[in-house]
Amino acid sequence: MKKIFLIASMISISSFAGAAAHWDYSEVAKWGDLAEDFKTCKIGQNQSPIDIKTSSVEKASLSPIKTSYNAASGEVVNNGHTIQINLKDAGTASVPSGSFSLVQFHFHTPSEEKINGANYAMVAHLVHKNDAGNLAVIAVLLKEGKENAALKDVFANMPETEGSKALPAAFDVTKILPANLGYYAFTGSLTTPPCSESVAWQVLKTPVELSKGQIASFQKIFKMNARSVQPLNGRKVQEAN
Ligand SMILES: [Zn+2]
Repeated sequence: MKKIFLIASMISISSFAGAAAHWDYSEVAKWGDLAEDFKTCKIGQNQSPIDIKTSSVEKASLSPIKTSYNAASGEVVNNGHTIQINLKDAGTASVPSGSFSLVQFHFHTPSEEKINGANYAMVAHLVHKNDAGNLAVIAVLLKEGKENAALKDVFANMPETEGSKALPAAFDVTKILPANLGYYAFTGSLTTPPCSESVAWQVLKTPVELSKGQIASFQKIFKMNARSVQPLNGRKVQEAN
């Protein structure tokens, strides 16, 4: 009897610690209830994304963002939630909370961040990590306009179903940044489960263009993959030039 109980509890522990719970964008409000380790999605007080109201941002003399990215090899992954470009030794970015290595970037449609209540067509989230494991994200808002030449290789290699494709050439993320790196800064979270907090967010103020066809090619795979905006709960958004 004891033996059976032991085996049963081992099975339940291993299934709990195994594959993460399934989640999707049709039930964003329920993420926090899907698994114990997703509960920050529900009870976190510093969640992302947010609506940035430009009339209430705080002008701050924060240090400018400095990037030192380089051409890097990578793969374009469809992970079931987005298209993510994993890069190897892609360089670093300095933001007010320190220097971080670029790990990957991925897209959402529409942009998760709102500016004065309005979304952009898409956003690219450039995810960085430091040696202590802390995360910093630089968000590049993407609006419909002329074709984005820098993203051509990425958009030509997006797997339509879960899987990955190698990028045909080294990719330099500098090329998808706007010339002006002025930004809004705040402390937030991952915008997907487990919604972990203490993420340093920098949303660039200047959007970058991509074509209607490029937006459509992403939306053919992911029609909508944006979490709704979350309450500020007293957080201040700072603006830096
Ligand atoms: Zn994201």
